Amino acid sequence: MKNLQSLVRPNIWALEPYSCARDEFKGMEAHVFLDANESPYNEPLNRYPDPLQEKVKKILAPVKHVRPSQIFLGNGSDEAIDLIYRIFCNPKQDNVVAIAPTYGMYKVCADVNDVEYRSVSLSEDWQLNPKALLAATDSNTKVIWICSPNNPTGNDFPREVLHEVLMSFEGIVVIDEAYSDFSTQQPFRTVLDNYPNLIVLNTFSKAWASAAIRLGMAFASEEIIALFNKVKYPYNVNLLAQEKACALLADRPTLDGWLVQVNREREHVLPALAELPIVQEVFPTDANFVLVRVTDANRVYQYLIGKGIVVRNRHRVQLCNDCLRITIGTRQENNELLGALRFFK
Ligand code: PMP
Repeated sequence: MKNLQSLVRPNIWALEPYSCARDEFKGMEAHVFLDANESPYNEPLNRYPDPLQEKVKKILAPVKHVRPSQIFLGNGSDEAIDLIYRIFCNPKQDNVVAIAPTYGMYKVCADVNDVEYRSVSLSEDWQLNPKALLAATDSNTKVIWICSPNNPTGNDFPREVLHEVLMSFEGIVVIDEAYSDFSTQQPFRTVLDNYPNLIVLNTFSKAWASAAIRLGMAFASEEIIALFNKVKYPYNVNLLAQEKACALLADRPTLDGWLVQVNREREHVLPALAELPIVQEVFPTDANFVLVRVTDANRVYQYLIGKGIVVRNRHRVQLCNDCLRITIGTRQENNELLGALRFFK
């Protein structure tokens, strides 16, 4: 890896971050808080929340097999995606490289930040060629984006392939593991210490069933996390989200149970989809959704809408012509979908 300073935008490296009242005072003994221009009424919502979410991170660290200092928490992992551009990429000068098809926000945030986005097509069977990815980089490439399991294709990339990218690229490699809980492959967040250039993204929105609280995670070296903390909004995760996260993590059996249930349903849905006459291909998946090629995606999509069932039409996405992305739901929801598809003409 290149030296970290040479990868970071000079203005960010030099940035003097905003120092908020709750940063400056961390003692336990005070009981009169007249430092932050808060109202004295409406406890506890009158107080600004912990800017660094230390309680959540302390509980989360052993669950994710990382240290608290290796965690950034944000308003969804989408916040972390945007911050990565703001930390590393000089607008109009630097570029990033990503696979295609993949999660759309990497490109949207590149466009917002005026950073060139280079995409490298996956193969027809959704595999990633590390040599092609590296060939698309140049001396201004700051970040490589890899989503594994990949959205919308659903597949994991083999660990050796990701290892090769991490070892041969000298900039930052982001592996978005939003869906890794649904996979049997060992996630990269557990080997953070082996890769100083690695940032792993996780979220409360998928296996932990809490998209509404908007809580995303980035795991990386302490030095990289310190940069996230410098650039983020001071109170980027609200009190209600922090409290809800702690409550969720206090009940791991329920979280684990949801995951088991979704994976079990996936085993039920995949073969049933494969048997439908309109289905041409069910792509292998390691996520809580499956990409399916059908005879006419636009027509099937509209037909399902007419039945009150919404799936994601990916027909217009590169390499995904006539593909629908279908999320795994409850047994009842899945059966309703399968039943409707059986009657499609
Ligand atoms: N990464 C991937 C691969 C996703 O599919 C999504 C959401 N669909 C996100 C990140 C964003 O997740 P969050 O809800 O944490 O912003």
